[in-house]
Amino acid sequence: MNNPIGVFASIDAGLGVRLEVAHELGIKTIQLHTPAKQSRTDANAQAFSKKLNNLGITVTTVFLGFEGETYETIARTAETVGFIPPATRQARLTESCDIADFAAKLGVSAIGSHIGFVPHDQNSADYKAAVKTIQDLTAHLKKNGQSLHLETGQESADSLLAFIMNVGADNLFINFDPANLILYGIGDPIGALKSVGQFVRGVHCKDATATTGKPGVDWGCEVPFGQGQVDAEKFLRTLFEIGYTGALTIEREIPAEPERQKAEIGQAVELIEELKAKIG
Ligand code: MG
Repeated sequence: MNNPIGVFASIDAGLGVRLEVAHELGIKTIQLHTPAKQSRTDANAQAFSKKLNNLGITVTTVFLGFEGETYETIARTAETVGFIPPATRQARLTESCDIADFAAKLGVSAIGSHIGFVPHDQNSADYKAAVKTIQDLTAHLKKNGQSLHLETGQESADSLLAFIMNVGADNLFINFDPANLILYGIGDPIGALKSVGQFVRGVHCKDATATTGKPGVDWGCEVPFGQGQVDAEKFLRTLFEIGYTGALTIEREIPAEPERQKAEIGQAVELIEELKAKIG
């Protein structure tokens, strides 16, 4: 398995490991949580590209993030995240295009995003609006030579595939996060990975344990990669089997404490290196 290891990182705003931590751990690829609006300038794009170059780090994906999003509960996530809440839909589409243009200045060809809680009824106005929004966004990305990677979350594999088919864009793919399927109470991530395998262009090496309360209502618990209910070896083996060649991007939702980040991300790097060698 030759996939490079990556880490979910941030430069000024958002969730993720600091660049310096990634560098100290010898990590060569990152997915970047979108920089704050005031940072997305030409001058910063140049300065940031230079910094990445010096550190020998490549950005594989820029991940969208919006003000007002919160993941504090599953219900609040549904109300606030992605392109489903109607009140912010158009403004977020416009901002996503701006972020994509900034990513293009960094030479990044993939944009990652949670779409939010897609309604189950494909005939509902909100479902149709979400499809149209993603059609508009993928059309904009296409002009930049970019693709959109939808983060797996609360949808089943079937719903996600149906959504992709309904959008019908040839630059729409999946960023597969196995832990999210456990956190949102969807179930077996490995089976889902096999179902959507042909669309997977990015992954998060993230782990979780299922809720002991009500699945789909109460959050499960996010834990260090290898310590939860994602079978790490099976996950990597399945990626190998479906022919996935992209980065294995470690995502860990812990506070920006460099020492803790270094220790926990470092352990995940060791585990992934070990498994890669074992898989061959
Ligand atoms: Mg993720």
